[in-house]
Amino acid sequence: MASSEGPSHGGVSLTAKVALLGDSSARHAVAPAVQWCRMVWTAARRPELSLVSHAELLRLWDLSNPLECQSWAKSRGPIARAVLCLSRAGWRAEGPTSWFDHNGLAIDLASTPPSLLADQLELGLQREREFAFARNIGCPQGSRATLDLVRNRVSSAARKYTRYQKYVIKSCGCNGLWTNDRAMRAGYLCDGLCECGMSDTVHHRLYTCQLERVRDARDEAGVSQEFMNAAREFPDIPVFTTGIHIYQDSELPCPSTSSDVYLYDRQGNPLDMEPEEIASLTSSAPLRLASDGSSSMPLIRPLQRASWAIAVCPDEGEDPVAVVKGIVPGSLPQTPAMAEHVGIALCGQIATRPTELGADCQAAIRVVQRNVSDQLSLSNKFAGVRAFAHELEGTTMINTVRHVKAHRDMNVIQ
Ligand SMILES: [Zn+2]
Repeated sequence: MASSEGPSHGGVSLTAKVALLGDSSARHAVAPAVQWCRMVWTAARRPELSLVSHAELLRLWDLSNPLECQSWAKSRGPIARAVLCLSRAGWRAEGPTSWFDHNGLAIDLASTPPSLLADQLELGLQREREFAFARNIGCPQGSRATLDLVRNRVSSAARKYTRYQKYVIKSCGCNGLWTNDRAMRAGYLCDGLCECGMSDTVHHRLYTCQLERVRDARDEAGVSQEFMNAAREFPDIPVFTTGIHIYQDSELPCPSTSSDVYLYDRQGNPLDMEPEEIASLTSSAPLRLASDGSSSMPLIRPLQRASWAIAVCPDEGEDPVAVVKGIVPGSLPQTPAMAEHVGIALCGQIATRPTELGADCQAAIRVVQRNVSDQLSLSNKFAGVRAFAHELEGTTMINTVRHVKAHRDMNVIQ
C-alpha cells in the first residue's frame, strides 16, 4: 500500500501515487532477501554473533537449490523465496553471495551490510514502480515515468510550499485534480467549462486562462516567460501539467564501477606514482590528510553520481602537495554520505606512517571513531566500506580523525 501521506480522494491514480511516494510494504516485499544478506554478513563479518557458519550457509543454499525455482507456488522455504523476491526489484542471484542489482552490477553480500542492501533494493523497486506507472499511462515498453522533479518539493521536510499547496501538486501528479473538464469526462453532469468559456483543464488553469484573478495568481507565482511560452506551445508534454517526466530507462548511463584513483600534484598535473608512495612527497610528522566527498544533485534521481578527494597537506597554511581523487563505485549508493566514507576509507591506502586525518562530515567521523566491531554492525550502512578500510594496511596508521569546517574551495581546508 502506498504511503498514507498522499492524496487519497476519488480519481487519484494509485500507480502514480506509489511512484511518487513509495510503497510502505516495500520492505516486506524484499524481506527474505534482506534476511539472507543479514545471515551472510553476520557469518562473514561478525562470526562470534552468528548462529550459522559461513560454510553451513553455503551448504544450505546448495541443498535448497534456489536458482532452479521459478515460481512462488513451487517455492519451498525462505532461501528460494529470497531469490524470487529479488525480481521485484529487477535484481537476480547467481550464487549464495553473488547477486546483481537492477543496473546489472555485481553485489557481493559478504561486503554488503543488510541495511545498505535494503536501501539498494529500494532503488530497484522504485525503478519497477516507474516502469509500471509508464505502462499505466500508455508509454512504450522500457519507458519510466517519474515524479522525481516534484518529489523533493512535496516532501514533508520541504518548506517552500504549504501543506495545502503540496497536496494540490501531488494531486496533479496523480491525476487527482478535479477540474470541470475532468468531472465531465468522468461522467458528471457538468459542461466541463471554465468561467471564461474555455475547456477547464489543468493546462488551461495554469497557462491559458485570462480571468483576472487567475492572471494575478500566475503573476504572483513568478514563473518565467520562457517557461510559460514553452508550456503553451507544447500542451501535450505532461511535465508542464503534472510534473511527470517520461524517459527510456536505456538512455540512462550505467554508473561506473571503476575503482581507479587519480593522483595530481600541487599544480594539478597528473602524478605517475602509486597511492602508497604519495606520503613520501612530504616529511611532515604526522602525515596530514584531508578527505572529502560529495555528489551531484540532479533532478532525475538515478543520475546522481558521487566522488571523493583526499588532499595531502604538508604543514598548517601550505598548499596540499598532492591530491588523490576517485569515484564511488556504481554498486554503492551515489550519495554525499557514501562519498565521505569512501574517501576516509581510502586514506588507508596513503597512510604509510602515523597520520592525522581531517574530514568535514561529523556523522562519518563518529562511525570511524567507534570500535571495530561496532563499525561492522548490521545496522551501519557504511559497515561494508569500513570492512574494506580495515583490510587496507594504512588504516591502523590513522591515529587521529578530526572534524574540519565544511568548505566550498580548497583554500578553506588549510
Ligand atoms: Zn478560464
